[in-house]
Amino acid sequence: MPAPILIVGQGLAGTVLGWTLERAGIAFEIADAGHAGAASRVGAGIINPITGQRIVKSRGVDELLPRALAVYRAMEAQWGVSLVRAMRVRRFFNDDRERRVFAEKNATGELAPYAGEADAEGFWIEGAARIDMATLITTARTRWRADGRLREERIEPLKAMARHDTVILCTGAEDCGGLAWGEAKCLRATGEILTLAVSGLAPEVILNRGHWVLPTAEGFAKVGATYTREGEMLAGGASAREELMLSARRLLGTRAFTVEAQESGVRVTSPDRYPLAGRNSCEPRLGIFNGLGSKGALLAPWLAHQWVNHLTDGVPFDPAVAMTRFTR
Ligand SMILES: Cc1cc2nc3c(=O)[nH]c(=O)nc-3n(C[C@H](O)[C@H](O)[C@H](O)COP(=O)(O)OP(=O)(O)OC[C@H]3O[C@@H](n4cnc5c(N)ncnc54)[C@H](O)[C@@H]3O)c2cc1C
Repeated sequence: MPAPILIVGQGLAGTVLGWTLERAGIAFEIADAGHAGAASRVGAGIINPITGQRIVKSRGVDELLPRALAVYRAMEAQWGVSLVRAMRVRRFFNDDRERRVFAEKNATGELAPYAGEADAEGFWIEGAARIDMATLITTARTRWRADGRLREERIEPLKAMARHDTVILCTGAEDCGGLAWGEAKCLRATGEILTLAVSGLAPEVILNRGHWVLPTAEGFAKVGATYTREGEMLAGGASAREELMLSARRLLGTRAFTVEAQESGVRVTSPDRYPLAGRNSCEPRLGIFNGLGSKGALLAPWLAHQWVNHLTDGVPFDPAVAMTRFTR
């Protein structure tokens, strides 16, 4: 007998949802066409509590960060792999405006408890983390393949509904013939990342000024990520590689590095830049879990928790992420 629930897509969203359903004892199958185009294969997995030129705390981070870390730590314990690395971010000021914004916000306490020591060059962000998304999705895939839950194929959601009560689309940038986003508009932005060979970096420190440098393994780091909306070009017409190499030089100072690889992926978000969870208003047996944008590692455990509460007790989705905010 087919399981009542089919998850379509086994990137970060589908994997965290599947794991959360499994923990709740809810039977499911999961289908994925392959990770070739998955953002989760490329995403750096950084959770940074303070981001952006305006130097703001990520929305909801005080609640979402402990929830996310608890989920990834529980996965580590269950699967016997390492997924979470505690990090600090050394954020450099771009200009006097940033210096002033930081000083004002720090004085009011609105960046607490994450803003650490500051000096003329920048400040420290405490409590950041790096989630190894590639290990997360490949570990889950191997396990779900072994227990017969995984279907390695492209799914047509409407056809799949003949066999399953609820089909939840975790399809990232793929819109499944317009079904994945229901009435919501999907905004796409391409991101590129370089892998560098570079030595002498502190393994627990992310360097950040516009772009970031993330140490990954001994002698290696990633620098990223560009952000190019559909139909736009990078500022000044520079290639992603040129733009990232310039940032790497600024952040790494006199350290020598070579570029070993370049990867790209597509982030998706909604018009209000927050994720989407819920049921399609025309076909309620179709569900959505998408729009994780640049903050998938922080947001996915929260959305998965809401899906489980919804399936077990009919709890409505939080209005901040519910599909209903885009339906008339
Ligand atoms: C360059 C870059 C850097 C990033 N850095 C960070 C970061 O530092 N921190 C962070 O939190 N986030 C980061 N992100 C964002 C993060 O990667 C995404 O939010 C997250 O990976 C999205 O996961 P997803 O599961 O929604 O989509 P995806 O990972 O794209 O997965 C979707 C999956 O669905 C499958 N699929 C689609 N349609 C079908 C179908 N019809 N049938 C079967 N399978 C299907 C695809 O094959 C794919 O495997 C970054 C993204 C990019 C591009």
